[in-house]
Amino acid sequence: MTSHSERAAAFLKDPDRVSWHDETLWIVRKKRDRAAASVKEWENLREKASKLKEYVLSDLAGLLTEFERNATLNGAVVHWAADADEFNRVVLEIIKSKNARNIVKSKSMLTEECGLNHFLQDHGVDIVDTDLGERIIQFRNEPPSHIVLPAIHLKKEDIGELFHLKLGTDRGATDPQYLTRAARVHLREKFLNAHVALTGVNFAIAENGTVVVCTNEGNADMGVHSAPVQIHCMGIEKIIPKMEHLAVFTRLLARNATGQPVTTYTSHYRTPKENGELHIIIVDNGRTERLASIDYRDALKCIRCGACMNTCPVYRRSGGHSYGFTIPGPIGTILAPHSVPGKILYKDLPAASSLCMSCSNVCPVKIGIHEQIYKLRQELIRKGYGSFVKRAILKISGFVFAKPVLYDISGKMVRIALKIVPRFLIYSRVNTWGLERELPAVPTQSFKEWYRQNGSN
Ligand code: SF4
Repeated sequence: MTSHSERAAAFLKDPDRVSWHDETLWIVRKKRDRAAASVKEWENLREKASKLKEYVLSDLAGLLTEFERNATLNGAVVHWAADADEFNRVVLEIIKSKNARNIVKSKSMLTEECGLNHFLQDHGVDIVDTDLGERIIQFRNEPPSHIVLPAIHLKKEDIGELFHLKLGTDRGATDPQYLTRAARVHLREKFLNAHVALTGVNFAIAENGTVVVCTNEGNADMGVHSAPVQIHCMGIEKIIPKMEHLAVFTRLLARNATGQPVTTYTSHYRTPKENGELHIIIVDNGRTERLASIDYRDALKCIRCGACMNTCPVYRRSGGHSYGFTIPGPIGTILAPHSVPGKILYKDLPAASSLCMSCSNVCPVKIGIHEQIYKLRQELIRKGYGSFVKRAILKISGFVFAKPVLYDISGKMVRIALKIVPRFLIYSRVNTWGLERELPAVPTQSFKEWYRQNGSN
C-alpha cells in the first residue's frame, strides 16, 4: 500500500490542479465563515449540538431501540447489521426478494464505507449513483475525494471529456449548464426505471421513527418517489432524540458545509408509500468499539459537514485521494487508524497534519480533532509503529530538551553547522522536509540570548 506522502506527491505533480483545489476549498471555507457570522447564536448552537451528541452517545442503545419501535409502528421494516458484510447482504436480500435489478442511490458515505456498489455489481445488480458528483466518480470508477463535494478534485475540462465518452456530449464542451443538463437527461431515465431507491441518512429521530435526508439536488426524493421500494442506510450514531433537536443540526449542517442557510431539500421519510416498502438498515461496523474508547469516541459526533477538510492546509494541498481511506481529511485521519476493530491501520495519516487546530475550530459539534490526532501520534509511537529514525530523533530530542545547558550548546552547534555544511548535504534525500522548502536564514543568536539582551526593554 502506498503512503499518504506518496499519494500526495502524485497529486502535487499537477501544480495548477493543486492551486485550483486549494483556492476552491478556501472559497467554500470563507462562505462558511460568512454564514456562521450571520447567525448571532452560532456558538450556542455549536455548544448545543455538541452536548446533544454527547447525550446521544451516552444512551445510544436506548435511543436506537426507541427509534426502532416507532419506525416499526410507522410501517417501516428495521434491519440491523453488525458489519459491512452483513449490511451488504441485507441490501442484496431486499433487492432479490423484489426481483429488482435497477437501483438508484443518493449519496451515502456508509455505502462507500461498506463497498456496497461493488458488492451489488458483483451480484448482477445495476446500482446508479444519482448525486451528480457521485455519478461522475462512479463513471471514473474511483472513490469520492471529499464527503460533501465528491468530485472536487476534477476540473470542468475533465468532466467534459468524461461526459463525451460516457454520455455522448460534444467533445471539448465544458459549459457546466450543458453538462449538467446531459447528466439530468441520463439520470431521469434511471429514476423512471428504478425498482429500488437507496439513500443515506443524515439524522434519525428516535421519538417518531423518522429519517431525515439532506440533499441539494433533490435526487433522494426523485428516487424514493419513483421506486416502489425505499431503503435508508444509517450508522448507529445518526440518531437524535427529538424532533425539536433537528433544527439545531440543520441550522449548522449546510452553513458549515457550503455556506448555504439550509440544504435545498431536507426530506423527512416516515411511512411507506401506498403499496410501497420502507426499509431502514442500522449499521454498526466498528462504531461500538469506538464508543468504548474514551480517547476516540468523540469522532462519533461527526455530522459529515466536510468543513474540517475545506479548512485543512494539508487536505487542500494533497487532495482527498491521498488519504487512501473512504473519509479523507482530518476526520478521516482520526477514523481510519481504528476503522477495523483490533487493528491499527493507516499509521501514516496522523502525521499528515499540521496540528494547526483549524479543523477543531470549525467543527460544528466541537470534536477535538487535533487532540485526537495528537493522541493517535502518541499511541503509535508508544506501540512502536514510528520508524527507527523517528523514534531515535524523538529520544535524543527529549534528552536534549530536558537539559537546558545541553540545549543551549546543541542550538549553537546546529547554527554553526547550518552555515558550514555544504548545501547538498543539508538538502539531501535524508532531509525529505527540505525537498520542497528552504530553511529560513540562520539567526546569529538563540531566542534566549536575544531575550537576555532585549527582553526588559
Ligand atoms: S469532524 Fe466536524 S468539521 Fe469534520 S466533517 Fe465531522 S462535523 Fe464536520
